[in-house]
Order: sequence, then C-alpha cells, then structure tokens
Amino acid sequence: MADVLTREQRRHNMQRVRGRNTKPEMLLRRGLHARGFRYRLHRRGLPGRPDLVFPKHHAVIFVHGCFWHGHDCPLFKWPATRQEFWSEKIERNRARDRRVIEALKESGWRVLVVWECALRGPKRSPFDEILEDVATFLTGRQESFQELFCASEPIRAAFRGGAAIRRG
Ligand code: ZN
Repeated sequence: MADVLTREQRRHNMQRVRGRNTKPEMLLRRGLHARGFRYRLHRRGLPGRPDLVFPKHHAVIFVHGCFWHGHDCPLFKWPATRQEFWSEKIERNRARDRRVIEALKESGWRVLVVWECALRGPKRSPFDEILEDVATFLTGRQESFQELFCASEPIRAAFRGGAAIRRG
C-alpha cells in the first residue's frame, strides 16, 4: 500500500506515538513549576506511568494527545491511509486509558486528564485559565477525576463518571 502521508503528517504522527515530553506537556510543566507545584515525571510502578505525579496532593496528571488517545475534537483527524490500523490502535489506547484511570482511582490517586486541545489549537483555553483549573484540582482534594479540554462543540467526553470542565 502506498504511503501517502506527507513528511509533515508523518512527523506529527510519530510525535504522538512517542507521546512523552510533547510541547503541551512541557508548557504545563513549566507553568505548574513556576506556581510552586512539585512533581515527579512518568513514575514507574503507577498504572499508565502518569506524565506528572504529585505525591503531596495524591494526584496525577496525564497530558493526552488528541490523536493518539482518540479525542473527539477538532484536533483529531483520521489519517488518509491505514484507517483500520489506526482505528484499532486508537481504540486499544482508549480502552487502556479507561483501565488505567480506574486502577489509579482504586488505589487512591486522583486523576486529571489535560487534553492537548485545551493547550493547543484554535479552541484552546487561555493558558492562565488552564493553570488555574489544574491548581484548583490539585489543591482542592475533592474530585477524583476531571478532564480539561477545548471549547468546541460537539464534544464527547472520552471518559464517563467524572466531572468535565469545558472552558470557553
Ligand atoms: Zn482534543
């Protein structure tokens, strides 16, 4: 099968495949650090190796790439080729995300998912608002699960059973 992805698309996809230390995640890290939050990165031994771990707040953060984790939002576009391959892969990722979140919650961790589209793209939120929401989640010690995503309609929360904040 001919591979018709442009070099730019391929680079884009590979970045998502790697999944660690992506630019939105770095932005968030720097912002939280500047606000005095201390965290560990990708800690082994926790389900899903969360991107940021805040032991003091019993909380973890995942920064999810909207393509790789199958977010129903404007940043998600099916690749032009190998759709079956990608669809199976992304469905597996979504199923794993749900299992990981449940496992973390069961062991007492609070889980925040920050979707890429909240940080990047046309419908992103002002960065200060994202930081404010994250800080509120971390220090609030109330919610066991929350997700932040872009302001687009319609959007379907990838995970059920938790509060979702929609920034406008
Ligand atoms: Zn998204």
